[in-house]
Amino acid sequence: MDCLFCKIAAGEIPSTKVYEDEYVYGFKDIAPIAPVHYLIIPKEHISGASEITADNSALVAKVFEAAAKIAKSEGLESGFRVITNCGDDAGQTVKHLHFHLLAGVKMGWGSEAVCPVE
Ligand code: AMP
Ligand code: ZN
Repeated sequence: MDCLFCKIAAGEIPSTKVYEDEYVYGFKDIAPIAPVHYLIIPKEHISGASEITADNSALVAKVFEAAAKIAKSEGLESGFRVITNCGDDAGQTVKHLHFHLLAGVKMGWGSEAVCPVE
C-alpha cells in the first residue's frame, strides 16, 4: 500500500522517533505548529477516525497510552492537546489515522482556535 505513514512506521521513510512499542509509533511532525508537535499513529493501517471499529479500537487506546507516556517522559506537566483530523472538512491530509500531540504553548479554545466556520 502506498501510504506515507505506513512507510514511516516501517522505517522505510526517515522520521524523528519519539516513541515506539509493538502497536504504536510516535514521531516529530515535519511542519510543527507548536513548540512540541508529535504525531502518534497505530502501526496498522487505519485510514482515519471514521474507520475505527470494535475490531481495531484497542489501537486507539494504545495511542492514548503512548501520549501519556510521552507527556511524562518529555515533562509536559503544564498540559498537552491531542487532536485527530478526519476527512477533507477537518483538513486530513494523510489518510492513515494519526493523532497530533501539541504542547509547549498556552493554546486557545473555541471556534477561532479549532473550528473555523466558512
Ligand atoms: P493532517 O493534516 O491532520 O492529516 O496531518 C498530517 C501531518 O503530517 C501534518 O501536520 C504534516 O506536517 C505531517 N507530515 C507530513 N509528512 C510528514 C513526514 N514525512 N514526516 C513527519 N510529518 C509529516
Ligand atoms: Zn498507512
